[in-house]
Amino acid sequence: MDRYDVIVVGGGHAGCEAAAAAARRGARTLLLTHKPSTIGEMSCNPAIGGLGKGHLVREIDALDGLMARAADAAGIQFRVLNRSRGPAVRGPRAQADRKLYRAAVRALLAEQADLDVRAGSAEELIVGRSGAVEGVLTGDGMELRAPRVVLTTGTFLRGVIHIGPHTRPAGRVGDRPSIGLARTLDGLGLPLGRLKTGTPPRLDGRSVAWERLEMQRGDEPPEPFSFLTGGIATPQIACGITGTTPETHRIIRRNLDRAPVRTGQIASGGPRYCPSIEDKVVRFGERDGHRIFLEPEGLDDHTVYPNGISTSLPEEVQRELLRTIPGLEDAAMLRPGYAIEYDHVDPRALRPTLELRAVPGLFLAGQVNGTTGYEEAAAQGLVAGLNAAGADAVFDRAEAYLGVLVDDLVTRGVDEPYRMFTSRAEYRLTLRADNADLRLTERGVALGCVSAERARAFAARRAALEAGRARLRALGGTPEALGALGVDVRGDGRRRSAFDLLGRGDVDWGRLAAAWPELRSIEPRIAESLSIDATYARYLERQEGDIRAYRRDEGLLLPEDLDYAALGGLSTEVREKLSRARPATLGAAGRVPGVTPAALTALLGHVRRARA
Ligand code: FAD
Repeated sequence: MDRYDVIVVGGGHAGCEAAAAAARRGARTLLLTHKPSTIGEMSCNPAIGGLGKGHLVREIDALDGLMARAADAAGIQFRVLNRSRGPAVRGPRAQADRKLYRAAVRALLAEQADLDVRAGSAEELIVGRSGAVEGVLTGDGMELRAPRVVLTTGTFLRGVIHIGPHTRPAGRVGDRPSIGLARTLDGLGLPLGRLKTGTPPRLDGRSVAWERLEMQRGDEPPEPFSFLTGGIATPQIACGITGTTPETHRIIRRNLDRAPVRTGQIASGGPRYCPSIEDKVVRFGERDGHRIFLEPEGLDDHTVYPNGISTSLPEEVQRELLRTIPGLEDAAMLRPGYAIEYDHVDPRALRPTLELRAVPGLFLAGQVNGTTGYEEAAAQGLVAGLNAAGADAVFDRAEAYLGVLVDDLVTRGVDEPYRMFTSRAEYRLTLRADNADLRLTERGVALGCVSAERARAFAARRAALEAGRARLRALGGTPEALGALGVDVRGDGRRRSAFDLLGRGDVDWGRLAAAWPELRSIEPRIAESLSIDATYARYLERQEGDIRAYRRDEGLLLPEDLDYAALGGLSTEVREKLSRARPATLGAAGRVPGVTPAALTALLGHVRRARA
């Protein structure tokens, strides 16, 4: 029998971050997964980051997680999305070479001290008489003991794949589902639900007519994800852009009676923001075309991922519709698209640490909590791994997208696969991708999960930012003096600092550096952060007031065993909702859907009375 401090089940994005984070904190950790060769596997699109998701990746990096560094080692096209919009909502994204990504994650795990990786299937949880978890039993009879277990089983719990009328049990294509573990969770009385997601067919890039397609290149130079990466060494590639046609839509409409998502064969909810092509054709009937990005899956791999046509239509229909798409008329389909249905646990059963209230020591992270996406999974893995290793890793909504994600899950639950968007964050100007390290790395040092190398690099960056800001504040002059330097501003006689000029959009960094050549020695990444800070300075002051008010409500803790049934002034419906979510604070109670201001006042009265 083997003993660990923490056992993580599952080697997907959540599992890898959870295991690495627990081990970074010094816990003796085991990562148990079906096939170590699939560690770091991207089950669907070969890309990391994007709108909202890119913020999560930067935050994971700020806490010394793996995803950003792996994406930098594997990225074959980097683009900052939303570049034309404000810096707060820009989303770094990288398309990744699948093999390089897997290799990078494996290499990072291999160099992590206190971490063992083992092949095996967790079939059952060992739960002691007290109701706390004590370990895991594997399919081949191993008994693995640990007082903390993190389950990150993705789409594997009772997974069923659908392609047209054909269904088969699977965790994803090529992998067996997890049945035993799903039964154990059932047996523990956990609230389980069913969700679905889907993936497009894969194409042979050699049969695509690239020369007829619009091609899209990445940013030059590529901007790395990690605060530790100096530059990107991987060769960069272009993607093709095409789209569906009226003929594609006719074929889809003609075959809707064979589409599992329409016939009732799949009854569970799918991601509204990432619908299948058959869903799009039905929901947006007025449109006669949807964009498709043709993304190569690797530098030495001919497989192409057609982003935008996830489908579970029968295989022959998938072939037929591909022929109606410009550039894909002769494309060879390597693998059909499919949908997958799987069990998830209602995340309202979790504490903000991602530990189940009903089973002490058992943590859940990733798709099993009803989310979708690698980044959302990795972010939860990091939080669960740290907490399982004894850290107090709860982030609030004003501190990180990590906090927004976990709080949304545990207070609101999910009725469709949850993905991150910048619009979910109230304090977007504060929670930017460019300042994730400034928000979190120091906290990470205190949590014991940040390496000495990162701590040093962070201290140097912060010092450079402070020196840069001081320099910008010291430089400046009256309108006349500025005019003599070639900087034209309104002639009101008022002195403006270089920082003010940057913030008011009067001049950009290039103009400033032309006026004051000493600014040229400031590194571009530091210059960019300073420009963003200057732009937002006035708004950030205002946001700080909002954040203070938010934190006041977050400071009002609600006891976990609060008997809502005995509380006066609440409707039955509100009582039920609060009992299910068991919000940790008064602020969180206010975010439970359906909880009225009157109910909050009653709750506040109760907290005050209990304190008196
Ligand atoms: P996974 O990456 O699924 O990893 C689960 C891991 O757990 C695997 O390593 C598995 O082997 C292991 N495991 C499971 N059970 C056991 C057990 N009992 N014992 C040991 N090991 C076990 N995301 C999007 O954002 N957009 C999409 O369009 C999209 N489409 C998808 C389509 C498909 C078909 C699939 C399968 C996924 C899709 N996803 C999509 C989701 C994305 O792949 C997941 O969100 C992400 O991989 C979840 O990470 P995870 O770590 O939670 O789980």
